[in-house]
Amino acid sequence: MNKPEYIKKGKCIWCLQSKPEVEFNTKPHTIPKTLNPHNIGFDICDSCNSFFGSDDKFSKVTFSVDKVLKEFFNVHKFLLIHKKDSNSWKNFKSQFFSYYHTSRTLKLNVDYIRNAQYANELTRKFKRGIYNIFLQEYHRNTQLALDNKFERIRQFVRHDNGELPLYYLKNNDGVRLMGDFETPFELSFNDYTLNILEEYGFYHLSMTGLNFFIAATYKADSNMEYLINQAREIIGTGFVFTELIELKKLNEIDFTLRNWN
Ligand SMILES: [Zn+2]
Repeated sequence: MNKPEYIKKGKCIWCLQSKPEVEFNTKPHTIPKTLNPHNIGFDICDSCNSFFGSDDKFSKVTFSVDKVLKEFFNVHKFLLIHKKDSNSWKNFKSQFFSYYHTSRTLKLNVDYIRNAQYANELTRKFKRGIYNIFLQEYHRNTQLALDNKFERIRQFVRHDNGELPLYYLKNNDGVRLMGDFETPFELSFNDYTLNILEEYGFYHLSMTGLNFFIAATYKADSNMEYLINQAREIIGTGFVFTELIELKKLNEIDFTLRNWN
């Protein structure tokens, strides 16, 4: 029996190599498995796949891109469990976060904040993680990620070159949980989101109350106005969202648990 291969276009969306230079035998989860075990991608070669999942002891932040993203979103899982079982915080373990029960606040561990270089690198890895799942999921849905317009995402995520912005919609309520965390994390690629991407270069990624926008293609650079208007519209719908920021430090995301009944 032949081993299954995870290949459709025949070229890796990250390193642009084909067989026999690279192989496609490892099952590529487009979103870290703990967040969504079902979505399996293709055209992600074994070496790129392993690169995103492997810690790097030579880098300042040794944790892999996948691990940084996972750890961050696991905090959300904790919050949801916390809502059902108020003693769950006693078992809370995280490499990045500390939980302060009296103020019901999650804080990024002090080291990350005091050590500016470390905090920058951690934030950069988180951003790369977001762009990583975007391109892999985009390809899984459209098979179009090999397009040249995603070259700078490849550079940023796979080769750690250049810089891409991550925009975050601030929330006046601290973390607001919407939906059920048991539902696997999904990215939406319907006609509407694909049109926006095509027209303006932006992609809106939302999960359980967190709202991010990424500059997915070069087009985004000349369409900041679209993003500002879009944010204004969302902010205008209620009193939940307050401000659109470009995320510079992970701790700009507010983890305070306010307005909890
Ligand atoms: Zn590759």
